[in-house]
Amino acid sequence: MSAQILDGKTIAAEIRGDIKGRVKAILAAGGRPPGLAVILVGENPASQVYVRNKGRACDEVGFHSEVHALPASTSRSELLDLIDRLNAAPRIDGILVQLPLPDHLDGTVVTERILPTKDVDGFHPYNVGRLVLRMPLLRPCTPKGIMTMFKRTNQTLAGLDAVVIGQSNIVGRPMALELLAARCTVTICHSRTKDLADKARGADLLVAAVGRPRFVQADWVKEGATLIDVGMNRGADGRLVGDMDFAACSERASWITPVPGGVGPMTIATLLENTLQAAELHAGEAT
Ligand code: NAP
Repeated sequence: MSAQILDGKTIAAEIRGDIKGRVKAILAAGGRPPGLAVILVGENPASQVYVRNKGRACDEVGFHSEVHALPASTSRSELLDLIDRLNAAPRIDGILVQLPLPDHLDGTVVTERILPTKDVDGFHPYNVGRLVLRMPLLRPCTPKGIMTMFKRTNQTLAGLDAVVIGQSNIVGRPMALELLAARCTVTICHSRTKDLADKARGADLLVAAVGRPRFVQADWVKEGATLIDVGMNRGADGRLVGDMDFAACSERASWITPVPGGVGPMTIATLLENTLQAAELHAGEAT
């Protein structure tokens, strides 16, 4: 079997096209463009690239966007003051603090300072709690983007045995909650999981969010499974590789996401979707 590709790049382009159309309609009706503020602390080169890409994506769909680049020495109170100002800024709908933060800044405190209706990353405990309770508001971008891929390719999820490898707050946990809400039977695995390969072999739907190149081997994959590779690892040659051995795994799977061109573009498109959703929430509050 050779798996069909879950083409995140193409689906993400369609989503951006839809959003662009909606922004035009908002402007035509006399509204203002949705606004995203990105806060970058320090000079992590990978973070700088991510922030630049997010700014470009905003420009493409007609959003207002602004980057607040702060030195690594920024104090907690300076960062929280900036978030307070952005929480109060009428043209800003979404606030995103690029992670990782320098060690002296506590990400939890920073995330909790963002107004939940401006938390377009979906990391605030309020938004996580709503996801747990199956009444989501702003949902974490990577898992939500994966759910959108399933929807756009008409996948039936209810009743599937899903295995998520990775339990991080930004990918693994919210991914498991999304799949549970879609009526999958979900197993979450992590570095202390026993017999990981056996658990993976039981999966109709396998998600890898580990951060280790080619971690998932073909003999871990159930024949006909759907494979979602969240990993983004730089090889020695500078090329991006996922957490799955793509060539070998795709021989056994029915669907697979490539890296690059799978989950990554969906994450950014979903950030735009969340910002638009936040703008619509704020417009509703203003009327
Ligand atoms: P993370 O916070 O480092 O979490 C990694 C998870 O993998 C942890 O839960 C860890 O378990 C688990 N793990 C590590 N070694 C393992 C092993 N040998 N066996 C089983 N589980 C193991 O990483 P993350 O932020 O979730 O990101 C994961 C990957 O996704 C990275 O490559 C990242 O770059 C990528 N990513 C991609 C996107 C995208 O848009 N495509 C978005 C976000 C992240 P413990 O909890 O027990 O330590």
